[in-house]
Amino acid sequence: MSLDKTTIPAPTIVDREFVKPLLCGAGPSDVWPSVVKAYSKPVLSPICDEQFKVLDDIRAGLQYVFQTNSNLVLAMSGSAHTGMEALISNLIAPNEILLVASRGIWDQRAADMASRYGIRTIVSKITLNKTFSLEQLEALLTKHKPHALFITHGDSSTGTIQNLEGLGQICHKYGTLLLVDTVVSLIGAPFFMDKWEIDAVYTSTQKAMSGPAGISPVAFSPRAEAKINNRKHKPPFYFDITLLAQQWNCYGDTRSYHHTLSPPLLWALRECLKEVIKETLPVSWARHTATTAHFHRRLKELPLQFLVPKLEDRLVTVTTIVLPKGYDHKKFVSHLREKHHIMILAGLGPTIGIAVRVGLMGVNSTITNADIVADALTKTLKALTKSSL
Ligand SMILES: *Cc1c(COP(=O)(O)O)cnc(C)c1O
Repeated sequence: MSLDKTTIPAPTIVDREFVKPLLCGAGPSDVWPSVVKAYSKPVLSPICDEQFKVLDDIRAGLQYVFQTNSNLVLAMSGSAHTGMEALISNLIAPNEILLVASRGIWDQRAADMASRYGIRTIVSKITLNKTFSLEQLEALLTKHKPHALFITHGDSSTGTIQNLEGLGQICHKYGTLLLVDTVVSLIGAPFFMDKWEIDAVYTSTQKAMSGPAGISPVAFSPRAEAKINNRKHKPPFYFDITLLAQQWNCYGDTRSYHHTLSPPLLWALRECLKEVIKETLPVSWARHTATTAHFHRRLKELPLQFLVPKLEDRLVTVTTIVLPKGYDHKKFVSHLREKHHIMILAGLGPTIGIAVRVGLMGVNSTITNADIVADALTKTLKALTKSSL
């Protein structure tokens, strides 16, 4: 066989042109212009001083956005699912019990992951447009005595936000660790890791942080850290927080090599954090509240309904909207994409066929964008009535 001839011909890869839509789904959201610049900065070696300084900057920024003094704060290589899997695999041993308080698709995934690790997983579901009361959660803890409780703060599949204030204190009465998904809530809504006694948390860059997906910040409380230090089981090598803490210098200058972190994603995350620090968290929370309140006022003028009845349960970053009878959700979403260059999303998990999802978060959380989307929804409701109903 000749080694200078290929048997598979080279494909033709053409340039693709398209109109970039305004990203108003439940994620990804558009990225900050400064972040686009940041990810074209030079590639760095994973063992050079410059990169270790970038990691220091990121850890400091993450302590601010999570509102924690914990040392065990870093970012996992991978999208938010990596953070989810890192928390579960590091903190819960096979045969231990994980209680999943479930409202949507993300906690279902956490339950799926946990059962793959041989963790005894108990799922307790609530009606899709509601959140848990602390009394309900305490009753579940008394009944199941789990080693850990998993709950999402913001649930982008249903558009709900769970009250977490006081939950950590309740969990700790029962010796339960509290694991929280803040992927679609952080930056948009108040979150206080230390004050709320949350033991482990993960988030993503692609939602209200307005960066590219692919790097997932995580943080662990001293309680969680103690569990990691005393555990007998081994998590997967790539997710091992003990090894990653050495790479991220969580306890001083260990500066070890674990894997090659992606420099563009490190630069991007660092820039996202700089944007939040510049604006400050309280101002960012207030901006998200004002934008969404304006958007909701506009929606009330239309023949639409909110999926989530209670005001305090509504997620500020993602609104779930029930369309009038007869509208095809897929056609509705495609119409907005094709005619108005706006990307919203159909339902996911429990909301498939029930609601469409509109995200206004991060750089996109502005009154102007709220009006652009509300205007387009108004036109789409009219256009589709005329043509296809
Ligand atoms: C989007 C989302 C995820 C998953 O994020 P990926 O970046 O796709 O891994 C997890 N949890 C919540 C609440 C989300 O909204």
